[in-house]
Amino acid sequence: MPHILILGGTTEARRLAAELAARPHTRVTTSLAGRVSRPGTVEGDLRIGGFGGAEGLAAWLREHHVTAVVDATHPFAGAITANAARAAVATGTPAVVLRRPGWQPGPTDRWHWADSLADAADLLPPLGRRVLLTTGRLGLAAFAHLTGLHFVARSVEPPAPPMPPRTEVLLARGPFTEADETRLLRDRRIDVIVTKDSGGEATAAKLTAARKLALPVVVVRRPPLPDGVTAVAGVEAVLERLERAPKP
Ligand code: NAP
Repeated sequence: MPHILILGGTTEARRLAAELAARPHTRVTTSLAGRVSRPGTVEGDLRIGGFGGAEGLAAWLREHHVTAVVDATHPFAGAITANAARAAVATGTPAVVLRRPGWQPGPTDRWHWADSLADAADLLPPLGRRVLLTTGRLGLAAFAHLTGLHFVARSVEPPAPPMPPRTEVLLARGPFTEADETRLLRDRRIDVIVTKDSGGEATAAKLTAARKLALPVVVVRRPPLPDGVTAVAGVEAVLERLERAPKP
């Protein structure tokens, strides 16, 4: 029976698991890193925690007779993507990478592209004093030295220090509407936003709200995919690729 391993942590991974789990004679396992305390329901089998690098993942693929691996991790989860590519080659397992498309600026948008969180921090001071930071709870250290700016840091789980001294933590999980985001930006008197180029609908409303309020946005570029790896953009494209993959 085919056994598909989905490296998850995204909405698309969850949707794919539901599609595959509904198929007869298909085993599907979703793997999560274990970063959030309440991951929500996932169809099919679920395993949580690191594999121990590319070698550990390769061993897991062999031990569990995985017939195809789908890397549906977040575009900024670069280490697991590199490990998955290496493990797939080492074990001869067919692999597909699912990446939602990145966001594109509109003609009136005031976007400033950054190559890293550190680069985003360097860009900030001339752009504004009150910052909405949506780069995730593990990225606050890159902004910790910006003592003169006020940050509203939004994340799903509480962030860990170090973080900037003037940080207001806002715990929230998307999706967010444009009305929610406009209200937040106005209420907190935000004058600049920092985001990763995560893509997708669930967290895109901050960008349309920023457009409406003519606010600058610092957008952190995605890390490149490993050499030789290409990605498909949606769940349907992954299903097509899996159909075409060699059967066990
Ligand atoms: P990362 O830097 O690429 O991964 C660090 C380590 O975490 C990996 O080497 C691996 O440990 C383990 N890991 C990551 N994803 C895993 C998975 N799906 N299953 C099992 N182990 C996994 O990743 P990250 O940026 O910390 O993100 C962790 C997870 O959160 C990802 O699965 C991603 O989809 C999700 N996520 C990330 C972001 C983001 O902005 N980075 C945003 C939303 C969701 P071993 O080497 O021990 O195998």
